[in-house]
Amino acid sequence: MTSFETVLPKLARVDEDAPVKGRTIERVRPAGKNLIIEFSGDLHLHTHMKMNGSWHIYRPGERWQRPRRDMRIVISTVDYVAVAFTVPVAEFHSSSSLARSDDLRRMGPDLLGKTFDRDEALRRIRARPGEEIANVLLNQRVLAGIGNIWKSETLFCAGVDPFTGVADLGDTKLERIVDCACKLLRHSVESRSTFAVYSRGGDPCRRCGTPIRYRKQGDDARGTYWCPKCQT
Ligand SMILES: [Zn+2]
Repeated sequence: MTSFETVLPKLARVDEDAPVKGRTIERVRPAGKNLIIEFSGDLHLHTHMKMNGSWHIYRPGERWQRPRRDMRIVISTVDYVAVAFTVPVAEFHSSSSLARSDDLRRMGPDLLGKTFDRDEALRRIRARPGEEIANVLLNQRVLAGIGNIWKSETLFCAGVDPFTGVADLGDTKLERIVDCACKLLRHSVESRSTFAVYSRGGDPCRRCGTPIRYRKQGDDARGTYWCPKCQT
């Protein structure tokens, strides 16, 4: 690393004590919507994107796609510049404090992880019989990796009404939901996708032509898109 810059006081203090600049980036790994960057010398940077945070990768000198005031962290190497914009969670850890971190420990099986524990994911979904399936899919402690887009897309793929309670879904349906999520997420990492329902409110369903519906759902009023005919 050729430089490390941050506007976050907590990170800046660690950087003053044990400079980040000059270390080697050994590994970058996602865990759901968490990102962990491992530096040489047992230093780990954990960030969580929540709704609005994002990491961008640029070439040195390239124009940023978000304003400078949104910048929280800049990591530079000779060839690349990684910028974290409005990340709400950013913490340095050692290996041992990272292993104790609540956010990460309590997280559900990671759909994009090297190994995905399907049975554990199904067990965690079934443990919430009174909740609507779309809300459960967004809960990172149940299943890590599904954001609002893939919530709608997964349920269209599985042919399940997003407002169905978990208790009303049989084993086959739940397995189908998890398998759809797995397939769609892995596919989305490899290619730019066109959506079946997400952001298509009022447009005809690609399968049956019925207008796609849109409604806010759950305590956070997250937008949900679905086909009332294909997802019953
Ligand atoms: Zn349809």
